[in-house]
Amino acid sequence: MVNNRMVTAKLDSLYKYDGKWYILDFKTESVQNISDSAKKYRYQMEVYGLAAGRNLKLDSITAELLFLESNETFSFNINLSEAEVKTANLISEIEKFDFESFNKTKKSCNYCGTCGYLSICHKNTAISIT
Ligand code: SF4
Repeated sequence: MVNNRMVTAKLDSLYKYDGKWYILDFKTESVQNISDSAKKYRYQMEVYGLAAGRNLKLDSITAELLFLESNETFSFNINLSEAEVKTANLISEIEKFDFESFNKTKKSCNYCGTCGYLSICHKNTAISIT
């Protein structure tokens, strides 16, 4: 729980090596620049780190992104206090969002069909996703 909100995460892999904990996430996209590609997953990994770190009572954890097509790994350390503050701030921003007005627009996007939040996001609309 962060700000009394449940935050969930589904990790690909969590392991301990030489006394240190690691989160490993597999990526199937092709990459031009591994550093640029890794940036877009940083927050995802921070949430994973938060979930793992709380359960394991850690201050930090190492995230590893394994890009399968090029067999390259990008690693970075996650400060779990910073990840928690970032998540709390993000939750506050989401709570400020005017979902009622948004629902009235009955708009969908290319991702709605597979989005896990569809039932919440469009709860008052008759939107159908094919
Ligand atoms: S259902 Fe998901 S993808 Fe579609 S608008 Fe809502 S949050 Fe975005």
